[in-house]
Amino acid sequence: MTASPPPDPPPANLLALVPEAARAAVSAWVNARGLPAYRTGQIVRRLWVAPVAQWADATELPATLRAELERDFPLGRLAADTERLSSDGTRKYLWRLADGEAIESVLIPSGARRTLCISSQAGCALGCSFCATGRMGFRRNLSVFEIAAQVREIVLRHPEEKPTNVVFMGMGEPLLNWPAVDATLTILNSPEGFGVGARHITVSTVGILPGMAEFAKRPEQFRLAISLHAPTSAQRRTIMPVEKKYDLAQVVEAARAFDRRVTFEYVMIAGVNDRDADADELVRLARRLRALVNILPLHPGGGGDLVPTTADRIRAFAERLRNQGVEASVRRSRGLDINAACGQLRVEVEGRRRRSGHAVGKVAAGEERPQILKGA
Ligand code: SF4
Repeated sequence: MTASPPPDPPPANLLALVPEAARAAVSAWVNARGLPAYRTGQIVRRLWVAPVAQWADATELPATLRAELERDFPLGRLAADTERLSSDGTRKYLWRLADGEAIESVLIPSGARRTLCISSQAGCALGCSFCATGRMGFRRNLSVFEIAAQVREIVLRHPEEKPTNVVFMGMGEPLLNWPAVDATLTILNSPEGFGVGARHITVSTVGILPGMAEFAKRPEQFRLAISLHAPTSAQRRTIMPVEKKYDLAQVVEAARAFDRRVTFEYVMIAGVNDRDADADELVRLARRLRALVNILPLHPGGGGDLVPTTADRIRAFAERLRNQGVEASVRRSRGLDINAACGQLRVEVEGRRRRSGHAVGKVAAGEERPQILKGA
């Protein structure tokens, strides 16, 4: 009796690997077929540098080779559940993942700059009171493929809109998914990946100390942003439960050890963190780190019962910081007409589906067509 041949190995997802590992896998595959070595570079280039949606589109390769690539290294995609374009040019995506989870990315154009805000987790365990994602609870960590694919999809859909900057400020706390974020940073920054300069990639954290220590080990000049949102530990506890585990003093110390310019993110909430005394406390912290303060208006509807600080009050607050020598910028609220704040779109879309009787969770293949809802 002849033994049956061993089963074929499952197709490999090259898009889940860092470029160096993808190159090694492709190189071994090319060698095993007796193909010329230059094919490796041609194939790897189609992963991130000049991505194709499917191997059939890589027409510089022979048709037989493209068919074999499709069989052995199929290219995964994210299904766009919803894509919205705001009147201010902000583009927001709700991606539906293979298991039915939904995550968001937002592309924010500003002059020659196009900043893509990406998610690192589906939902979030940290429950910040001003955040729609926090109210969803934690669903799961995203894989390397799912994080990096948020960038790849933008390049595939709108090649002229390739992000110049990437910020981990979407759904989830990136430093609670460090192994996947670590690998994605390499894919984003590598010349064989998306080639985004390290100074144009920002990881934003509430201050997860073990993750900050890991991030600090990376030699590249990646940027660190601290989601501060309150200038004292007591105030922070009222809006950010994580303060009980990693308190403000420890987070500031860890940021100091980071040895690079740090940004404080500060969302303005009426009556909670927007008094003159709060500005003065914030000055004290910012001076210690020579931090830049990014003031963010609270998105209406994004923070449950919390009320956004008025524009006049925000201006006065920023002025008070500047008068005391702190560099402060006020971010314009972008994409107000498309629920662009983190988590808002998923909450809205799933609420609408529930009301109309659609199941939320796993979607049927037919439901995965992009829905383009242009903003007003
Ligand atoms: S602000 Fe960030 S850390 Fe806080 S709940 Fe929202 S996603 Fe999580």
